[in-house]
Amino acid sequence: MSNRHSGSCLCGHIKYELTGDFQSFYLCHCTRCQKGTGSLHGANLFAQNSALKWSQGEDHVSTYTHANSLHRRSFCLNCGSPLPIWMKEFNCVVIPAGSLDSPVPIEPTAKIFVSSSPTWANNLCAIPCFNELPE
Ligand SMILES: [Zn+2]
Ligand SMILES: [Zn+2]
Repeated sequence: MSNRHSGSCLCGHIKYELTGDFQSFYLCHCTRCQKGTGSLHGANLFAQNSALKWSQGEDHVSTYTHANSLHRRSFCLNCGSPLPIWMKEFNCVVIPAGSLDSPVPIEPTAKIFVSSSPTWANNLCAIPCFNELPE
């Protein structure tokens, strides 16, 4: 079935399944996502009215809620990988794109909070690309 998606964390302790459809896919450049990913942006898919099921390792899932905000992230207690989270307020499951093992079925919708991007990211299209670690 096309509306079933599956994913896991890096160490493999945790596996999940989502039944539902993705409506949007945001690359969020806010400073909280920079801290939470250690990188330029979060990459999150949003699936309203969908069902998230932990098929393995739910006891290893931890959730951090940032003070005085809706910002929340789940992660594996063993390897730290970002994991899906159900936002009860919006009846929406938020899925980090990199956690999916099944193909990401939609293109990114938009970049958001781009004014928070660090200056090192200003000209990424111009830097060299390699398929492997360069010598
Ligand atoms: Zn893990
Ligand atoms: Zn963000």
